[in-house]
Amino acid sequence: MNNTSPTEIWFLTGSQHLYGPETLKQVAANSEHIVRALNKSKLIPLKLVYKPVLKTPEEIRQACLDANHEPACAGLILWMHTFSPSKMWIGGLTQLAKPFLHLHTQFNRDLPWEKIDMDFMNLNQAAHGDREAGFIHTRLRLNRKVVVGHWSDTEVQDRIAAWMRSARAWHDWQGAKFARIGDNMRQVAVTDGNKVSAEIKFGFSVNTYGIGDVVGYVNAVSDSSVSLLCAEYEQCYNVTKSLRKGQNRHASLRDAARIELGLRAFLEEGNFKGFTDTFEDLHGLKQLPGLAVQRLMADGYGFAGEGDWKTAALVRAMKIIADGLPGGVSFMEDYTYHLAPNKHQVLGAHMLEICESIASGKPSIEIHPLGIGGKEDPVRSVFTAPAGSAINASLIDLGNRFRFLVNEVKVVKPTQPLPKLPVARALWECAPDFKTACAAWIYAGGAHHTGFGYSVTTEHIENLADIAGVELAIIDKKTDLRGFRQNLRNNEIYYHLASGLGAI
Ligand code: MN
Repeated sequence: MNNTSPTEIWFLTGSQHLYGPETLKQVAANSEHIVRALNKSKLIPLKLVYKPVLKTPEEIRQACLDANHEPACAGLILWMHTFSPSKMWIGGLTQLAKPFLHLHTQFNRDLPWEKIDMDFMNLNQAAHGDREAGFIHTRLRLNRKVVVGHWSDTEVQDRIAAWMRSARAWHDWQGAKFARIGDNMRQVAVTDGNKVSAEIKFGFSVNTYGIGDVVGYVNAVSDSSVSLLCAEYEQCYNVTKSLRKGQNRHASLRDAARIELGLRAFLEEGNFKGFTDTFEDLHGLKQLPGLAVQRLMADGYGFAGEGDWKTAALVRAMKIIADGLPGGVSFMEDYTYHLAPNKHQVLGAHMLEICESIASGKPSIEIHPLGIGGKEDPVRSVFTAPAGSAINASLIDLGNRFRFLVNEVKVVKPTQPLPKLPVARALWECAPDFKTACAAWIYAGGAHHTGFGYSVTTEHIENLADIAGVELAIIDKKTDLRGFRQNLRNNEIYYHLASGLGAI
């Protein structure tokens, strides 16, 4: 994964001085034990950092301020081992600028039926201590994730892990830079939007760069680097014969390699985490960047076509979420349909730019004409995405606010070969069914571009939306269209009023 920085989560334990030093020593030891155990768990993706037990408003406030100022800290896990009167937390939590998870657990898994006495009761008070904490979180209208159960429970660890992944994506967005190379595809609405609002809400910035800036980097690439990369292509892919060294279209492969090297240098020098381009602004480039974009996405860059900066940022976030998990993440577009009775399917693709991380098997590198853009035939890698569960996610700008939208899908293997389709593609079936899913997506104003991911789940996007304080509309197996539409209407009112409630 390109351009990432060390990320950790702090574990904060709440208590108070009421119980005396011996109890507090035990609280600290138990808390450290949990942190050690979670750090050893293969399920937990981020380093958890134990912090001293918090007993006073001053300590709590300082811990929250320290978390704000630690660049590596992506969020907090809070747990009240004993009772920690929650007015003590107001000063800290009102200053806290990092997301948090409230872990409602208990050190002991089982009640010691034979031995239980008031010392045990005194020490293991999370059952009511965490309710006192939950009240102040709700009273302060703080978005957070509540996870309940014993800390050794793998289901509990899964929930923590899912939140950590979303918190990491949020952390990655803060200060992230996205390059919009060229502007928007002319007249297209959903790919446009308010970049100022997005920076205020999500923490990433989007700024424009002329295609000429990229062309400068492309032209500066040495012939020897191009030759090396072409050799790499021939090793890593099934390169179609005409593109191979010594063959009649090899010059086109060299052009594609030169574009990749130039674009990569431009993105690295600018410290970007993602980018967009548009086929309507390619002056000075011989081809629409196809293979280059596919390979850069595979390295972790967020990308979307036609100036769609919101989807590019979402693809980046989904790549961070999925880091280390099987299955890839790609920019995607609902392209065309199979509408056979009882077998409605969506064929997802783009002109070229589908990420190789979702390829099943070794992609082919091919060259075919492209009807738009007015450039030479572009080189692209061609493959089919494997069967499995996946999601399509969209981030849209509703004018006064943003909305995330998710549809859970089942990717299927095409039953027929697609010998004449010269692009990478995925074929899927929507939950709960094609007609409901498409109608819901359209009612919600979802984009035709999506972030598509196998191991990214609705829960991950839900966590991210919660952290951002942004609506998430979910289309899954439980969706019924009337309820979905009513939720959209209700949310219009909720999100309109929520800022007045101090909720977002
Ligand atoms: Mn498109």
